[in-house]
Amino acid sequence: MPTPRKRTLKGGKTSWQVRFYLGTNLKTGKPKQTSESFPTEREAERFSNWVSAIGPQAALDKLYDGEEVVVVPTLDEIAADHIRLLTGIEDGTRLGYERLWKRSFGHLIGQTRADQLSADVVRQAVNDLAAGKGATGEQYSTKSLENQRGLLAGVVDRCIELGHLTRNPAKGVRLPEGRRVAVDAEDDEDDGEMVCLTHEEWDVLYDSIAVHYQPFLRFLAGTGCRWGEAVVLRRRDLDLGARTVKIRRALKWSSDGNRVIGPPKTKKGKRTIALPAEVVEDLRPLLDGKAASDLVFTAPRGGMIAHRTFWSKNWRPAIWRAQHCSKHTDPACRCGTGEPHRCKVHDVVPPPCGCAGTLVQTPRIHDVRHTHASWLLANGTPIHVVQARLGHESIQTTVDTYSHLLPDAQLLAAEAASLAFARQQGSGIWLSRVESLPDEVLRQLAAALTVEAEKRGVDLGPLAIPAAGAA
Ligand SMILES: [Zn+2]
Ligand SMILES: [Zn+2]
Repeated sequence: MPTPRKRTLKGGKTSWQVRFYLGTNLKTGKPKQTSESFPTEREAERFSNWVSAIGPQAALDKLYDGEEVVVVPTLDEIAADHIRLLTGIEDGTRLGYERLWKRSFGHLIGQTRADQLSADVVRQAVNDLAAGKGATGEQYSTKSLENQRGLLAGVVDRCIELGHLTRNPAKGVRLPEGRRVAVDAEDDEDDGEMVCLTHEEWDVLYDSIAVHYQPFLRFLAGTGCRWGEAVVLRRRDLDLGARTVKIRRALKWSSDGNRVIGPPKTKKGKRTIALPAEVVEDLRPLLDGKAASDLVFTAPRGGMIAHRTFWSKNWRPAIWRAQHCSKHTDPACRCGTGEPHRCKVHDVVPPPCGCAGTLVQTPRIHDVRHTHASWLLANGTPIHVVQARLGHESIQTTVDTYSHLLPDAQLLAAEAASLAFARQQGSGIWLSRVESLPDEVLRQLAAALTVEAEKRGVDLGPLAIPAAGAA
């Protein structure tokens, strides 16, 4: 509660001043301080009580009751200001927030007056979003819902700051469960559907990446590492003789928005990953002359690779080059840069040209990890091996994230297992892997095995389905 301060005016008269914050200074983005003066301490205290009880704007309205008509903005207007005044973000992120607001809360409650936002309005909107009633009708991922909630929180804060609300109506309203697909995309630059590239698509993308970053990209695709794990990799984490990399730490964002290096997200995030031969060859020259604690992958001028810079200066341009053949590329076009709005050739960024040898999908950086997982699964790698490689704490995450890639892959896995059973009975290699599978996966595998065996008219014998479901 603002405390009234006694002031002595010229001529010896006294007045009581109440200082409080109202609105935002458009230049600095900081709350604007203002004051009201009263002839007596009692009046000042009464006003001060109003300020803390109903907010500065409402207190002023009450004080000057009838003297002015206050036009209350809509949530859309509040949101537009909130997003415009956010500091420390890039234009691309700002655009993303505008889009996200428009298709989520803006679509549902954007026209609501700022002083009419109640807990019930928020609850209804959250339920509608969970039911896929946003502008796009999509089921949102957990990450997207969190971003939406962050936006709403900012809008509510601003409503309170401007005095349109006295309390936070979103407080205590629980988020709905999101689609599980993006649970692992915490270090991603956007949310949305997962993109898995075929080997051909990957080649097109790889060729369009700047040469300096090709080893880095191939490392991501060959290991499935998270961005935050790869950029902090040190010389000592690699053992090229054994062809392994040890993931021991990761770059994370702390709650106050700083980047910090800490242990991986979960216990199983700490892991050792076998490296493909191509990655080993890529890495050899990178390690030349490096000390044990030096970073393996760096920006062209040294130093840690920064996500935003990499995205705008390398990833986006590479995707653009991959998506447009030389015939459909105008040298003056800037659509493929980090500043597409500067393009003087196009008003709207043209879609992929679709010519032979170009990329049609638009993968995000994190999709390289998904791509890695999809390759493993397509080649019949057991899902728990994929889990270990990606560093998922629970196999449920792996199954939830990649279940749509499973049916064919499980058949292949079953086939691989059946071959192994036939030839390596007792050697334990495949058997131990299969036995370490959780019951649910084992049941799937056993069912697939039976189908395969029947199709081939093969009697797999008792070992082929080792106590399915009760291993
Ligand atoms: Zn073309
Ligand atoms: Zn253009």
